[in-house]
Amino acid sequence: MSQSLFAILLNTIISATSVTNDTYLIKQADFLTSQNPNCEAVLYHSPEIDTPILQEYIEAYTFSCEYFDDIQPMEIWLTANNESAAAQLRQRWCDHRLRTDSSFRESYCRDSQIGVYLNNYVHWYSVDWRPGIDEHHQVNLADQHTLESDGAESTMAHEFFHAYQYSHLDLNIYQTWESRDLNMGRSEDASKPWHSEGSASFFGSYLAERMGSEDALRHYLAYYIDPNGGNCQDLINEAFSLWDLGFDTRNNCGYGLGAWAITFLISKHSIDDYLAFYDDLNPYGFFEAWSKNFGRTVDDFDVDFREWFLSTSEEVKFETVSGVIDRERERWASNKKAPRKGL
Ligand SMILES: [Zn+2]
Repeated sequence: MSQSLFAILLNTIISATSVTNDTYLIKQADFLTSQNPNCEAVLYHSPEIDTPILQEYIEAYTFSCEYFDDIQPMEIWLTANNESAAAQLRQRWCDHRLRTDSSFRESYCRDSQIGVYLNNYVHWYSVDWRPGIDEHHQVNLADQHTLESDGAESTMAHEFFHAYQYSHLDLNIYQTWESRDLNMGRSEDASKPWHSEGSASFFGSYLAERMGSEDALRHYLAYYIDPNGGNCQDLINEAFSLWDLGFDTRNNCGYGLGAWAITFLISKHSIDDYLAFYDDLNPYGFFEAWSKNFGRTVDDFDVDFREWFLSTSEEVKFETVSGVIDRERERWASNKKAPRKGL
């Protein structure tokens, strides 16, 4: 679930990189698009994935796009979850890039981020940071719909939200990896995910719930404070800071506790307020935009969250979750732009 090319350079993926004949690659059967003309991502997939499953993914994409906004150009690469299928799709991706992107080089093919058990988002653009030159948003998914009942929905919404995040950072302003990470609410070295992943995880489960998966957000959050689950509550003591959480913190607690923090933030404001905050990232930067939108500094919020978490019972915590869901349901119903499907 990494979010930038910087992150992908840290990963080593072995893949075939030779260019092959295109005839097989462009056959119509191996991609599909949404029926909504305002959400026209192309979903490229392993040929062996069945149509109903593809439909589930494309519907989850369409729902997410209708909810957050149309983000273009958007490509979705969905591989069957086995190495041979992933290798084929990587090859197809590589050939596609070489055919369509003027600045793409064969040596970049190893950075596809398409693979078994890999779900992530990558914002691709030319190596010299020129916006619009070979720029595209790419969601990579491994078909794991059988592992979780809302796996297709929550994973698609999670990764789509990363596209929402990165589409709000102007490449003319943020021209380095470090500045982009910092202004997405991560540390400069991209190692602290509480904000970037916590929010994506919140929306992954929240939208899965809107798509019909009952109590998805509650179940997601409950797992991380369950002694038999993520067991992350033990990490929070009087000295705790959200910035202590890393991608390498045990049991993905950076994701789970980050999602608790975003739930707490939204309970004090609203989803609309939280999404509007992203509009201020370019003129103000992450930290000033936070203070401007939420009335507290990020440091103050960090303390607020710790104190709230330590001083409330589980019952009160879940009342907060229910409060967000109930309030946003009313908002949802009254929002003229609300998607046509779901609660
Ligand atoms: Zn993620």
